[in-house]
Parts: sequence; C-alpha cells; structure tokens
Amino acid sequence: MAENAFIARCSSCGAKNRIPASRRGEKAVCGRCKAPLHLFAAFPERAIDVDERSFGQEVINFPGPVAVLYWAPWCGHCRRMLPVFEELAVQNAGSIKFVKIELDKNPYLASQYQVQSVPTTLLFREGRLINRFVGGLGKDQLEYNLRAVR
Ligand SMILES: [Zn+2]
Repeated sequence: MAENAFIARCSSCGAKNRIPASRRGEKAVCGRCKAPLHLFAAFPERAIDVDERSFGQEVINFPGPVAVLYWAPWCGHCRRMLPVFEELAVQNAGSIKFVKIELDKNPYLASQYQVQSVPTTLLFREGRLINRFVGGLGKDQLEYNLRAVR
C-alpha cells in the first residue's frame, strides 16, 4: 500500500491534487493553477476508521459528502461489503469521503443515529444526515445510492 494521501480538489480550477497525509496540516497550492488549497476539506484516498472521538471532525465538520459504514467483525454481510466500500473509496477520492465505524466499539454513535443492525450505511452532507441504507449492498447498489450525494 502506498503512503496515505489525501485528494484536495482545487476550488479555482477543479483539478484534483494528491497530498501526502504527512503534509495535511501545511499550506499547499494547486499543481495546475497555483491557487491555495483548502486541506481541511481534503478527501482521504481510502476508507478511514472513525470513532466517537474523531466523528465530529471527520464527519460532522467535513465540508463535503461522507459515506459512513457501520460494521462489525462478526458480521458476514459486513465482511463481504468492506472490500466494495474500500474499492469505491478509491474510485471516488476527491468527491466522497468514506469512513468506517466499528459498531461494538462505538455504541454512542450507534444509538445517536439509531443504527440497530450492521451493515448500515449513512450518508452525510455538510454534517447533516441525508440518507441511510440498512443491510448489505453490492457494488452496483452502493454506487447507485451514492449518486445522490456526489
Ligand atoms: Zn487549481
């Protein structure tokens, strides 16, 4: 696996810039037009793990669409869905942020959003919950459901 990186979309020209994770706190400019990039809004290149401490920063305060997968290691549907979720995270880097929440370790985040079974996928935009999908989804279904937030 390559170094963790983020995709920052330039608000001036729309170019996607790849930023190494180690540089996330620094200032950066667009490689194409040299406009400043807003790295707080950079999208991870893969699905990231979020817990009760990081949820506010990674999901609620993120200025873009976020797909949140609640999962558990004992759940067969989850184990089939996780690689699909990861694949779509790579494909949609720069457009949709993908995060995973382990249900049993984060009971508060489950009860806060009434997540009663896994897998459950929640879609957020600008910190607001806009949709939810309960149950295992194949790649086509998940892609279709994500079209609404892109
Ligand atoms: Zn640019």
